Amino acid sequence: MYFVSGVLAIVIVVLAIFDLKKVEKIEKKEEEKINFESKENIELYNTQNDKIEEVNLNYYLLCVVASEIPFKYEYEAIKAQVVVARTYLFNKIVNNLEEKGDVCNDYRHCQAYTPLEKLNEAWKNKGFSDEEIEAGETKIRKAILDTKNQVIVYNGEIINALFHASSPQKTEDAKAIWSCEDIPYLKSVENIEDETYENRTSQTVLPYSVFKNTLIENGYVENITDEEFLNIDINEYTDSGRVKTIKVGNCKIKAEDLRTLFGIKSTNFILSVDSENIVFNVIGYGHGVGLSQVGANTYAKLGKTYDEIIHHYYTGVDIVDGYEYTKEK
Ligand SMILES: [Zn+2]
Repeated sequence: MYFVSGVLAIVIVVLAIFDLKKVEKIEKKEEEKINFESKENIELYNTQNDKIEEVNLNYYLLCVVASEIPFKYEYEAIKAQVVVARTYLFNKIVNNLEEKGDVCNDYRHCQAYTPLEKLNEAWKNKGFSDEEIEAGETKIRKAILDTKNQVIVYNGEIINALFHASSPQKTEDAKAIWSCEDIPYLKSVENIEDETYENRTSQTVLPYSVFKNTLIENGYVENITDEEFLNIDINEYTDSGRVKTIKVGNCKIKAEDLRTLFGIKSTNFILSVDSENIVFNVIGYGHGVGLSQVGANTYAKLGKTYDEIIHHYYTGVDIVDGYEYTKEK
């Protein structure tokens, strides 16, 4: 009896190993099949050395997602980020938006892209074990396969899939923050976020001289008197409750300009001024438009799937096969 069950156990183990190998093979084949307009590589413009590099499309996605979102986040949130990253790239290519290459590696212009070796180093320095790092990478690779070719469209056109780290309570309407044309899929929506997120609140303290000189150097004001400085106040809010403009003397300055100029984490802030400093007490992290990564992770924890998360943050969109989409174009 023991002998029989022993043999059975060995057979089961051998079958299991065989099966695992089969899965690995299938996954590899699937990976090979994924391409974009029959080309597997994209042209990545490296802004540091002013060179264009040929990079495998899926390797690019892997590095972008690994650079943009913590791999410890929920799997459905990672999948949503993959579809967003792929959509962001396809939009750049389809609409020919870059001067050099298909996309660049500068996070301020396109998406953050750090090669895997450098990410590995950074993760190790953060104290992640080799096993954790390997599991993280595997998770992202799987998310790329599980969302094969999927991109987001609105009215049949690929969207500008903007995203940010955190916007507790409400995301922002693109039109309100950039005074651009109405973008129907980038509207303010309700948002639930994990309150333990480390950058949920932050503070930026700017000495009077730094604030004043930076605004003068960048052409926002000609001068600020001591009295004007003490009377700096919020001028207008957007519908989502973020600051739209602040008033400095007779000038109105966009809060979004202040955010990028001074590295304030978001335009959702309260101001206070004394004779020495201007203090921004801030909620959230990023411009607030499109998908919120912390929110996506929270919704995933609450049981939402990646497509539900995408439909929540991008109003009225569809998820389609990007390969089919580009063939029709
Ligand atoms: Zn770029």
